[in-house]
Amino acid sequence: MRVVVIGAGVVGSAVAAGLTRRGAQVTVLEARTPGSGTTSTSLAWVNANNKTPKEYFDLNHAAVWAHHQLPGDWFFPTGNLELAVSDEHKELLEARVQRLAGMGYPVERITAGRALTLEPDLVPPPPGAEYVFFPMEAHVQPLRLVGRLLGEARDAGAVIACGAEVTGIETSPSGVEVTVADGRAFGGDVVVTCTGRWTQGVAGLAGAEVPMLDPVVSGAVTNGFLVTTAPLPARLSRVLHTDGLNLRPEGGGRLLLQSLPLDGRADPAVPVPGDVLDSIMSRLHGVLRATDGVTVERAVVGRRAMPGDGLTVAGFVDAGRRVYTVATHSGVTLAPLLMGEVAGEVYGEESALLAPFRPSRFADGTAGPAPAPARRPGQQ
Ligand SMILES: Cc1cc2nc3c(=O)[nH]c(=O)nc-3n(C[C@H](O)[C@H](O)[C@H](O)COP(=O)(O)OP(=O)(O)OC[C@H]3O[C@@H](n4cnc5c(N)ncnc54)[C@H](O)[C@@H]3O)c2cc1C
Repeated sequence: MRVVVIGAGVVGSAVAAGLTRRGAQVTVLEARTPGSGTTSTSLAWVNANNKTPKEYFDLNHAAVWAHHQLPGDWFFPTGNLELAVSDEHKELLEARVQRLAGMGYPVERITAGRALTLEPDLVPPPPGAEYVFFPMEAHVQPLRLVGRLLGEARDAGAVIACGAEVTGIETSPSGVEVTVADGRAFGGDVVVTCTGRWTQGVAGLAGAEVPMLDPVVSGAVTNGFLVTTAPLPARLSRVLHTDGLNLRPEGGGRLLLQSLPLDGRADPAVPVPGDVLDSIMSRLHGVLRATDGVTVERAVVGRRAMPGDGLTVAGFVDAGRRVYTVATHSGVTLAPLLMGEVAGEVYGEESALLAPFRPSRFADGTAGPAPAPARRPGQQ
């Protein structure tokens, strides 16, 4: 089978690798460079921690396990430590722990002593704080994962074309033709769109309606600050969630910081404001020791790939089954699972995990409302 994959973010790279495993002749068309979209601005926490409804939890839970089946130097299976100080956070965390434990999700309440053994540079929170450890959760270096997936696809014969912005998709009973801005045309049996936040426009080229929330008008639902520190001598080995700051190691002694309560001010059209940076850095000093004098190496506003109801979209968008679309806000978590499940669907094997997430829900009016912004630890 000849398949054209549009988009080389973490999702398109995984789908391309999965298709080559099935023996497909794959061409990947990427408008810019691989991983340069939302994949380059992600907390990249692998989890099913606060995913609802149940079908979405099941999808993400299966994906967490899929990451553990694909170990490599991009994958850090060191878990996630969450600590709650405020009464509100403690209540929410307790309810989440009970719900997740009831669904067979690995979660452990731990003591302050164990938390400090896991993370010796934690600034000890006040007495009464609660600590929860999610041992199967992880984080990844997303661009290394993209390189590994595209490498596997290339080794199996896939062609990766960068600077190839797709401007047309024409289907016919015998196949599909995809054209790019410079006039080149690529033929295939099926096209899979993996274009993240650009999905509405790209699927629209095939006449499909896949609404995505617009980063410009959706505010904190789609936009979020991410701050990378310069290298520093503090120890942090895993994803850490606290009342006002989420963080993880970013390689080479750097940390990646996120503060969801500040995301209401994230605007992709303007640089990260200085007072937002000051606030994030002062939160860091309250969470980790040995962070004095640390400087900011990079500060960005990430733009989420958010389907209209916040849930994953996966499925054919045309009656002739020539155009398959996949778009999701949980792209880093889901990538290793989508690799097999989407490739299987292209080859005609329906995925029970993806069946609840068909794009047709937008046309038939069964899609839910737009999601509220993520504000609390455990959300993303
Ligand atoms: C602040 C923030 C925090 C996040 N945290 C997490 C997290 O902790 N865990 C998690 O799982 N997820 C997280 N995410 C989400 C995750 O990063 C995304 O779901 C994922 O990166 C999306 O990957 P993608 O491949 O679908 O999209 P992208 O990486 O955006 O890739 C799409 C590609 O399509 C290309 N493209 C677009 N239009 C065309 C065209 N016409 N022709 C050819 N190519 C085209 C683009 O150039 C781009 O490279 C976070 C996102 C943000 C913003």
